[in-house]
Amino acid sequence: MTILLGAVADDFTGATDLCNTLVRNGMRAIQLIDPPPPDLAVPEADAVVVALKSRTCPAQEAIDLTLRSLDWLRRAGARQILFKYCSTFDSTDAGNIGPVADALLDALGADFTIACPAFPETGRTVYRGHLFVGDALLSDTHMRHHPLTPMTDSNLVRVLQRQTSRTVGLLPYADVDRGVGAVAAAVVRLRDAGVTYAIADALSDQHLLTLGEALAELPLITGGSGIAMGLPENFRRQGLLQPGTNAAALPPVPGPAAVLAGSCSAATLAQIEAMAAHWPALKLDPMQLDDGQVVVDALDWARQRLAAGPVLIYASAPPAEVAQAQQVLGREEAGARVERAMAALARGLVEAGVRRLVIAGGETSGAVVKALGITGLRIGQQIDPGVPCCVTIGTPTLALALKSGNFGGPDFFTKALETMP
Ligand code: ADP
Repeated sequence: MTILLGAVADDFTGATDLCNTLVRNGMRAIQLIDPPPPDLAVPEADAVVVALKSRTCPAQEAIDLTLRSLDWLRRAGARQILFKYCSTFDSTDAGNIGPVADALLDALGADFTIACPAFPETGRTVYRGHLFVGDALLSDTHMRHHPLTPMTDSNLVRVLQRQTSRTVGLLPYADVDRGVGAVAAAVVRLRDAGVTYAIADALSDQHLLTLGEALAELPLITGGSGIAMGLPENFRRQGLLQPGTNAAALPPVPGPAAVLAGSCSAATLAQIEAMAAHWPALKLDPMQLDDGQVVVDALDWARQRLAAGPVLIYASAPPAEVAQAQQVLGREEAGARVERAMAALARGLVEAGVRRLVIAGGETSGAVVKALGITGLRIGQQIDPGVPCCVTIGTPTLALALKSGNFGGPDFFTKALETMP
């Protein structure tokens, strides 16, 4: 197999988001979980995105994970590498965006790249090097108080400069807005001035498309999912990517369906209510989950109903109930109990024949994917903004929808099951 684009993402949902953007722009995309073993074989694809958990780990660990992923991607034929981070540039002065980008440039023998977290569709724009979320500067948003990566400076030239010994400059709005030729000229100017990283201004999708086209020859691009919008067209222009193929096509996965919900977000609670009005639903109480019998009973309950249609099992609860469980059990233990139960339920449901699974919750999804030993996902059609269907690579073949936090409309669960291949 030969891929065109290889990407490394610093977290799981970011990788899915990037795959979703690539698929919507005509590239067949596979998401791999953790650095792949050298001999891992994957189905035909145009892009592979390796999902790491490297956003907040020590910088050297992030570098090691990234370089192992890069090795696999280059062996798979990647012509260009994309380092994907959050569209709010989540990082600290210790990294990991700067150190990882430095290591990638060195490994690729490159001396210049851009950094562009802009994703106008979700309100993230960069103007004169400053990152905005909607109408607010990044440092005036809730990101200022993020527990792990507090963003107190909106000037990305300064932010990235604190993370690298190489020179950070600005590829300004005026050039990006004038088009591909002006961006190319600006890159020459920046390189001559000794700049290694240019924070690229972008206020619209058109700006991202201009950047993508102008930077087709760079071995490394860094940014949010938005910057990927302009890359597929470069491969089409070179005749490497066939126009008109349905990049979202996935093989059909017949079989019983189940929904597991561990997210307590307002959106998930509404989705549970909507699904429970039509299909069997079972609520788990974290207070009773120390007893393995609860999972055994829940699986029995599910087995009796699977032939008739999808079942829903959830631990999700409104804030007051969550607070009560956390008070009794401690925040971590309450979460860990639910995640262990969801992992065991997912394994049990698959043993019972379930082949179509919808999971609600970022951490919950992580626990389930790990419990099922999933190494990679083929990404298909979008269900709701930012959440695509996927099909596992390897056996057993499962159709999955992994939804974190507040994503999806009230009918998300049934819509996901209808959209799945
Ligand atoms: P989201 O994507 O909405 O943040 P996550 O799955 O990432 O959802 O996080 C939700 C956390 O809440 C998980 O650790 C889950 O185990 C935990 N949890 C779920 N139900 C309850 C509950 N009833 N009481 C306490 N914690 C819960």
